Amino acid sequence: MDSIIDLLSQIQKGDRKAIAKAITLVESTKPEDQVLADKLLGLLPESKKISLRIGISGPPGVGKSTFIETIGQTIISQNEHLAILAVDPSSSITGGSILGDKTRMDSLSKSDQTFIRPSPSGGNLGGVGHATKDSIRILEAAGYRVILIETLGVGQAEIDVLDMTDIYLVLLSPGGGDELQGIKRGIIEVADILIVNKADGNLEATARSTVLDYKNALKLQKARHQDWSVPVLSISALESKGIDEVWNEIMKLKDHLHELKIFDENRSFQDEKWVKRKKKNQILSLLDSKDEILDEIERNIIESDKQLLKKFSLWIKSIFNFKKSS
Ligand code: GDP
Repeated sequence: MDSIIDLLSQIQKGDRKAIAKAITLVESTKPEDQVLADKLLGLLPESKKISLRIGISGPPGVGKSTFIETIGQTIISQNEHLAILAVDPSSSITGGSILGDKTRMDSLSKSDQTFIRPSPSGGNLGGVGHATKDSIRILEAAGYRVILIETLGVGQAEIDVLDMTDIYLVLLSPGGGDELQGIKRGIIEVADILIVNKADGNLEATARSTVLDYKNALKLQKARHQDWSVPVLSISALESKGIDEVWNEIMKLKDHLHELKIFDENRSFQDEKWVKRKKKNQILSLLDSKDEILDEIERNIIESDKQLLKKFSLWIKSIFNFKKSS
């Protein structure tokens, strides 16, 4: 226990090694690590609502890391401490590193104000691990005020990231009109701010018309938050164009959510959901290691199904008898 108290005090001093160690602990699935992780999480101070958790989704290659690298400079230039939980380049789909040869977020990774952690996808397509929300709490306890969570925005990952962030950004490519169909339609419907990236060079005009397409498409749907109309912005992450506008919209939405008291409500709701999800996972992993409990539950279910069937057939019979006699 002493070592956990030490770890906590190191985290609160902003010690990077301690933060990394704590995140590794909450990510671990070993039962002995989970006990320590639970102790640590139990000791963490209540999450301060002054932090801002931002989800960033978009298909591979759209420019998420370039965008984070650029907007990250804006954030740290305001003296904010920035933490980034990024999709692990070693994808579970390819089983190898698709982006590993590329230097991701090179200048941000050299900044003292920034902490970057690749989050293991753990078989999860979008890259949000089972421990991401706990990692956020650790980072906030260490004084990081802005937390960016990068995902691919597919399937469950999109729902997971919505459940742990205050604001959700979606990055799209110019000319991606057909993105309005299929998978991406889902993430567009929940986006708080839509960003068309790569508005530079010969893609600039296409980016402008893509913005209009999305604006038109959004007219037909309601925004996720009350009295908020989703802005559609075109930017060039590579040339640092339009980045301040994105940050201004983020600040505007943050103030709006605080004014309407949605911010705190949303966090409490997310916390409740997270606790339930963790409990469920703990029970499932407990069952996984105890076959005899699983067998017992199975027997009980079969037994209760039998009872239910019996009741149901008695009920049907009674209806028939009633009809015959009337
Ligand atoms: P991610 O997979 O979404 O993280 O995308 P990356 O940030 O790795 O970018 C994928 C490719 O798109 C790289 O070759 C980037 O240089 C390029 N890229 C990113 N942003 C821009 C941009 O604003 N304009 C242009 N022209 N290329 C960009």
